[in-house]
Order: sequence, then structure tokens, then C-alpha cells
Amino acid sequence: MMPKPITLSIFDIFKIGPGPSSSHTIGPMLAAADFVDRLGKFGLKGGVAPDALEVSLYGSLASTGKGHGTHRAILGGLLGWRPETCDCDALLVLFPSDSESYEISVAGSIVDFSVRNIHFVSGDADAPYQNTLDFKLFAKGELLVSERYFSIGGGFIKRDGDSDPSPIDVPYKYSNMREFRKITRKTGLSLSEIMMENELAVSGMSVSEVENGLDDLLAAMTNSVDNGLKADGLLPGPIGLLRKARYLFESAGNCEHAAERALARLNAYALAASEENAAGRRIVTAPTSGASGVLPGLAYMFRSEFGVPDGRARSGLLAAALIGFVAKSNASIAGAEVGCQGEVGVASSMAAAFAATANGCDVRCLENAAEIALEHHLGLTCDPIDGYVQVPCIERNAVGAVTAFNAYILASAGDPVRQKITFDEVLEAMLETGVDMSRNYKETARGGLAVCCVCC
Ligand code: SF4
Repeated sequence: MMPKPITLSIFDIFKIGPGPSSSHTIGPMLAAADFVDRLGKFGLKGGVAPDALEVSLYGSLASTGKGHGTHRAILGGLLGWRPETCDCDALLVLFPSDSESYEISVAGSIVDFSVRNIHFVSGDADAPYQNTLDFKLFAKGELLVSERYFSIGGGFIKRDGDSDPSPIDVPYKYSNMREFRKITRKTGLSLSEIMMENELAVSGMSVSEVENGLDDLLAAMTNSVDNGLKADGLLPGPIGLLRKARYLFESAGNCEHAAERALARLNAYALAASEENAAGRRIVTAPTSGASGVLPGLAYMFRSEFGVPDGRARSGLLAAALIGFVAKSNASIAGAEVGCQGEVGVASSMAAAFAATANGCDVRCLENAAEIALEHHLGLTCDPIDGYVQVPCIERNAVGAVTAFNAYILASAGDPVRQKITFDEVLEAMLETGVDMSRNYKETARGGLAVCCVCC
């Protein structure tokens, strides 16, 4: 069977929303909002008035959901909030206690909802995706409606039973990097031109709307770094982790050598956005929330220190989106499926593609940069301590940004066609490694640092 052409939108891979986790925060909020919306639209047969709502979480949503704020995200979604517009501060103070109850308007009735109505179920649901959510509405103890959703990584959700959306006809059909390269050779078009034409077909937006959207994403990335550089104090949760970005940025000025100063600042930028994510503040998924410091940190450096103009930064973002599309379509960007190689590993390859493109490299060179960045993240497990996107996640974002920069430097020298491994091949290796990886290392907090480190 021929692989389907990629028809993702740039604004699917880059989403603005609250931290700390795209699959545990953004996805559940969208699922809860969709559940309420659908019942609002279609109502209930026979005019039965529901009086109870229960939500069950399975997979890593159950094991690490509390640490990721999944319960608050679900409540926010049930209240009609959306990730891109919700008040992150208001989200953080939902459910101050287990007894706090909220009125949810659903199917024409008001039902009370507290954290006690959310069930963190140990063991897997019998479902194709491990991050599964069940929403059930009752009247006098009788089940009225049950809907199942899957949070499939990067803030993407699927409703059980929904058929695949009808195919979108994009002008340039590719399913991997080899086919994308072929299109560039045949048409002579640039990466940006191809990505833009396809985006217009997928999103129905105009060129100026897409460009404004890209500028909004770059601005949101910049804000996440700026806010992180201003903040200090402890991050939420039992680990007691102190923010470090601001201190690293300030101490960078004292480094003796220019290279050391630059490296310290790049680390600080990636830490800053990543700490904002851990604090539940507004970030941009790139491709996930857990990895939202890598590309934003590197892009911040390129724009604020290297003076990369906006047009080049937009092209860099399109190149990063291309790498994210290919990774999501041929492997996975979910830590719960393939470990952290799919999150920080893919983020690093997207950032390497950004760096190469922003510096004027061609498609082969940016692909090589992305390949090198991902190759050296192969096998990276996901083992967040106590389920919080803090340790090892925050420092890992900084290391991912530095690796991305290094991968671009390695790729930009020599003849790009002599690179031995392609991005498609390294993705295949990542997927195979992810399939072989023990479940303990897939966002369950049941292996690695999560069990070997006693810090809370
Ligand atoms: S270890 Fe990686 S994949 Fe796992 S939660 Fe942290 S950033 Fe995400």
C-alpha cells in the first residue's frame, strides 16, 4: 500500500497552549472540550437530564496525569476553555482541594464535578493507544453516554469510532523526506514555497494569514523565553526544583571566553522556555510541550543574537515543521509511544533544520542536520521523576538545543550528498527502537531516573 501524503498543518505541529505536557494537558483539554461541545450540539435522546459525569484515565495519563495537571486540563476543557486562549494562571489554581466542586454545563443540564469524578485507572485500557480517556454521563446511576478519546502525542487527539477524515488534496504530495527532495528537484521550488502551497490547501488560510500565524508562533516562542529569563523560585510539585535559566543567563556574562558565553546563553534560553512549560505557563509545542524549550531556545539565539531576519526565521520554522511532519507521520512524537527520542530527539532535529535553513542551507543540508540531531538521541528513554516534566526534561531541552546547533555545524561542512544516513532511515531506527523499548521508559515514571533517584 502506498503511504498517504502528509496533510498536517503547521499549526497542528506548533500549538500555543499551557504546559507542561501536550499529551497530558493540551490533548485532554481538547478531548474534554470536544465531549461537551458534541453533547451541546446534539443533546440527548428523550430529553433525559444527566446528573453525573465520570472521567477515567488510562496508560501514562493514569500513571503521571496528576503531575502533568491532566485533572485541571480536563476540568478546563469541560468548562469550555481552549489551550490557545485559556488563562494559564487560572488553570493552575483549579481543584485547590479534592472536595472543590465545579458546575459543568453539559447536554442542557448542570452537573457537579470534582477531582473525585476523575479516575486514574491502573493498567491499560483495551485500546489502540495507551493514553486513553473515557467520558461517561449518568442519570440516576444509569449510563446515558460514553465517549472514548485518545491523546496521541503533541496535543493531537482522536475520538474512538471517528473515521479518518476525508483526504485533503495537497498540490505537493510527499510522505517522507526522499519524496520531498524529489519534488524540490522536479519543480525547482524552495522548501518554503512547497510548504506554503500545501499549508494553504490544508488550512484554507491565505498567504498573509499563514505568515501572520508564523509570526505569532515566533512571538509566542520569544515570550516563553523572555518570561522564563525573568522568573525565579521553585517550580510546582514535590521535587522542589529551583528555576535556573535566569541565573545561568546572568552568570553567562562572567564567562571568560566568547564561546563559553554563547553556549551558556543558548542553554539559558532553552531552560527558560522549558521552565515556563514546567510551571504550566504558555508555551509552543515543538513538537510537544515537554520539548518546548529546544527549538524556541535556539530560535531565540538566532534571532536576538545572530540577527536572523524575520523572513529567514519563518523559513526556518517551515523547515522545522517539515521535519516534525515527517517524524509524526512515519514514526512518533509521543514519549508514551517511543520514549523521549520522539520528543526531545525530534525537537532537536527540528531545531537543527531551523538552524540550517535560517543560515541559508539547502534541503539536503537541513535534512542531514535533522538526521544527525536525531541519530544522537536514539534510545533516549522517558523517565520523568514523579511524573513531573522537570527532571530530566528541563536540562534535556538545553542539551537538545546544543545538540541541534552542533548537528547543523556538522551538516553544513562537506558534500551533503555523501551523508551516509538519511532522515527517513534514522526515523525507521527510532520507531524500531521505540517498539523494542520497555513500557517502563515510556512516560509511566516506572523506570530509569523515576525509580533510581530519590529526590522528593
Ligand atoms: S523525559 Fe522527555 S518525553 Fe519524557 S516527559 Fe520528559 S521531555 Fe517528555
